[in-house]
Amino acid sequence: MADDLFNSFMNGPDEKGRFGIFGGRFVSETLMPLILSLEEEYNKAKDDPEFWAQMNDLWKHYVGRPSPLYLAERLTSDLGGAKVYMKRDELNHTGAHKVNNVLGQILLARRMGKTRIIAETGAGQHGVATATVCAKFGLKCVVYMGAHDVQRQAPNVFRMRLLGAEVIPVTSGRGTLKDAMNDALRDWVTNVRDTFYCIGTAAGPHPYPAMVRDFQSIIGKEVRWQLPEQEGEGRLPDTVIAAIGGGSNAMGLFYPFLDDPSVNIIGVEAGGKGVDEKMQHCASLTGGRPGVLHGNRTYLLQDEDGQIQDGFSISAGLDYPGIGPEHAWLHEAGRAKYVSVTDKEALEAFQVCCAAEGIIPALEPSHALAHVMKLAPTLPKDHIIVMNMCGRGDKDIFTVARHLGFDMSDTEGRDLDE
Ligand SMILES: *Cc1c(COP(=O)(O)O)cnc(C)c1O
Repeated sequence: MADDLFNSFMNGPDEKGRFGIFGGRFVSETLMPLILSLEEEYNKAKDDPEFWAQMNDLWKHYVGRPSPLYLAERLTSDLGGAKVYMKRDELNHTGAHKVNNVLGQILLARRMGKTRIIAETGAGQHGVATATVCAKFGLKCVVYMGAHDVQRQAPNVFRMRLLGAEVIPVTSGRGTLKDAMNDALRDWVTNVRDTFYCIGTAAGPHPYPAMVRDFQSIIGKEVRWQLPEQEGEGRLPDTVIAAIGGGSNAMGLFYPFLDDPSVNIIGVEAGGKGVDEKMQHCASLTGGRPGVLHGNRTYLLQDEDGQIQDGFSISAGLDYPGIGPEHAWLHEAGRAKYVSVTDKEALEAFQVCCAAEGIIPALEPSHALAHVMKLAPTLPKDHIIVMNMCGRGDKDIFTVARHLGFDMSDTEGRDLDE
């Protein structure tokens, strides 16, 4: 079952940080010592029960873990097939899974004596999570954000400032997430002594993809003991599904199940206006090809000349032009399947979830849910699907209102069915 390289899918990456031909460490000589000292500290922390005791305490009392595993009964009965469970990571402090990883990295930074934290952010969710944990520990926080995103995501910019972070608008390139990450890497090289770079997804040079995955794996680990509480001893999900931007919430759900061949694993990319439409999507695996970006080799959206393209999606959290290298590997090894869902389908799933379950989902997990809605009716009633509800939709209601033609400034409101 497993790839030739390893006798278990859970053994990746190798000592050079490679998942097959993906991943690795493509960084300048100036960055290398920083990456190596981070790796050394992470390897120590990983085997230190004291570190995990601290993590578990914060996950429980600050984040609110474990997040519930919830059987979506009305949705299940409406779809008429497989049983649909939602892993409720949208109930975490700050409203998404990002904080799981940020806590781990900030505890590492503290162990390393770093006092200044930098981060990149696109839609602002990772920036908000980082600013939050920095406030809690009294650390200086600097967030790089594309100038274009600063304008589009004003509420999150204000949140970060309230939390005491400095937000630096990035004007290089097109002023989006990719450019913010480049500037953060540049900052790191020039502020070697006191600075820790907290990356928000399972991408970047080794050890970030593996480290972020390990911190997010709490999601899948909880599912492993929560499902048997409801479905009987030893019961594993038959299918696990998650939305993919860079791929951290998906790796968090998938990783603990990689060596259980009975578990189908499905990642859902943002199909935007359709994967056939040139660069009107963010589906790096289904619509991109391998290249090197931000220190690792993976699938990327690029033009004929290898220029990285900005993708497009209704969901700001999914528009990273690459995908974590472990997903590229699982894709090529055939262990996980990757599909895409369009903006239109995600918007529909968003509304179904509100009406059938009383849960306003973020637009990112609405993509995963849209695929669940296609799949569940084709499966028998004893098939169990677990989808990751990785974020709540409060941040997205203005976008959704605009797409549905609902005027938020009209206090009388207007009937959505009109
Ligand atoms: C940031 C974000 C994502 C995308 O990031 P991944 O690393 O792919 O998980 C997805 N959903 C939500 C709610 C997010 O905030």
